[in-house]
Amino acid sequence: MAPRLNCLTGCFGWQPAKLSRCSELATRAWMWAIHLILIIPTAMAAFIARNNYLLVEKHLELQQYPYHPKMRLGFYMTYIGCAVLFPWVFLATLLLKKWYGTWTLPYGIINSGLATTIAIGISMQTQFLPASSSGCKDGKAMNWQVVDGYDSMFTLAAKLDRNDANKAEAICKNMVAGWTVGGTVVFFQSVLAYVSVFFDEREFSLLNPMRPLIWLVILFVGPLLFVHDVIFPRIRLWLSYAKKGVAELRSTRDFQIPPQARFTPQYQSFEAPKTKLTNVLAIEHVLLNVTDYLHHDDVVHLSMTCRAVREVVYPSEDLDYRVPKLTRHCCSISEASKCLYCNNKICGSCQRNPLWPGLSGRRHVTDCKPYCEPCYYKSFARHPRGYKKPCKCYSIDRSNEFQDVCRSCMSKDVDTLQAARHRRYQQEARDIAYDENSKCGDCKKVLKDGMRWWKCGKCSGECRDKIHPGFVKTKKVRDPEKGDVGNGGIDEDVSWWRKWRNVLLPERRQ
Ligand SMILES: [Zn+2]
Ligand SMILES: [Zn+2]
Ligand SMILES: [Zn+2]
Ligand SMILES: [Zn+2]
Ligand SMILES: [Zn+2]
Repeated sequence: MAPRLNCLTGCFGWQPAKLSRCSELATRAWMWAIHLILIIPTAMAAFIARNNYLLVEKHLELQQYPYHPKMRLGFYMTYIGCAVLFPWVFLATLLLKKWYGTWTLPYGIINSGLATTIAIGISMQTQFLPASSSGCKDGKAMNWQVVDGYDSMFTLAAKLDRNDANKAEAICKNMVAGWTVGGTVVFFQSVLAYVSVFFDEREFSLLNPMRPLIWLVILFVGPLLFVHDVIFPRIRLWLSYAKKGVAELRSTRDFQIPPQARFTPQYQSFEAPKTKLTNVLAIEHVLLNVTDYLHHDDVVHLSMTCRAVREVVYPSEDLDYRVPKLTRHCCSISEASKCLYCNNKICGSCQRNPLWPGLSGRRHVTDCKPYCEPCYYKSFARHPRGYKKPCKCYSIDRSNEFQDVCRSCMSKDVDTLQAARHRRYQQEARDIAYDENSKCGDCKKVLKDGMRWWKCGKCSGECRDKIHPGFVKTKKVRDPEKGDVGNGGIDEDVSWWRKWRNVLLPERRQ
């Protein structure tokens, strides 16, 4: 009856983690199979290593400078290891018939010792032999590790042993062959050592065959996964916070386009003359009938005929009702769109299509989606499968494109128009960010105050453009009835550092 080695399954109240149960009979089968594989390579390796050892042993010159000092020892360890391993393979095969199970551990210790011995011998040979037999061909053996004034090791060995320097290549190939076979023996002997050391079939045993895998995970893979899945994403999130914080400190939040003042005629100092044209156009359905055949630009120009006509086309007291009516009737309805710059109605026959540089602000307003912190962490900071790199769409933002523009805008300066349009996009992007009903693009929850991240709708990468506010404090809804004053705008929500920034760097105010 084999000893059970109960200390392997834990001692002093400590017990290793539970693994799946294995089979000692399977271990025995594995060992037999590896013994079978080992027989021929071991014999070959022992034979070649012995010849090489005797060669170096016989000639003292090969053991001196400039030749490798461990040459003799390298061949000797390989030879002795393989010479012991060869009979041991047969002996162990026989012993295993009766002695297995817990008895496998002594085999494991012997196998580990033999594997280590041969492995050390082979690794010593690595230092003075070429990696493959092609390193011996075409005179390379004669030039291998040559020191000035001396022959190569193979040339000297050929001269001493066979009285023929041309045999250097043959000696080199022989040594490399021995090294290759020895490497094969080391590999299978290591597997045999593993199988025979980690033999124990019990779930809680320290020597359960699965135990090294668990250690591998705990010692190497576990920490790597932890760093990759937990540490790095958090560092990315903190870095993002820091960058956004700095950008927010440098930016100016009191940015508002002043609303356009509406023109109010001074009625007390002017009386509209009653011309026949005004008499006709004052009848609204006639005016709308005329508008049916006009483009929007034409309506504007019609109103500029004289003050009286302007007053009947765009009556200042009725503007809110009149403008939508006129807009509805002018231009061809089927192909109507809006001018990119002034938002006025245009249609296929009145629009112009100049080839102008694209507007960099547009996609941020139409395509970019806000993200809350948990969704940013999940979709970007963790670099999940399918993660896209930060958005680089800005590189093509300004490439030329055909734009739909009204005739009036067509006649204006492009740069001025585009600058004004960009300022409106900036304002729009801020309004979108500060909208208290805006929802996260991923989890669709209403966003709270705090940091905002943005996802580009075109490339699905993170949009880091400064047009999006990094930090958003939603508007406070004020109740004038309770004594709240002010316009409820963002302007009043100025924190202490912003006030100081404005005092110290007043020129940054826009
Ligand atoms: Zn039109
Ligand atoms: Zn326009
Ligand atoms: Zn964007
Ligand atoms: Zn993009
Ligand atoms: Zn979300």
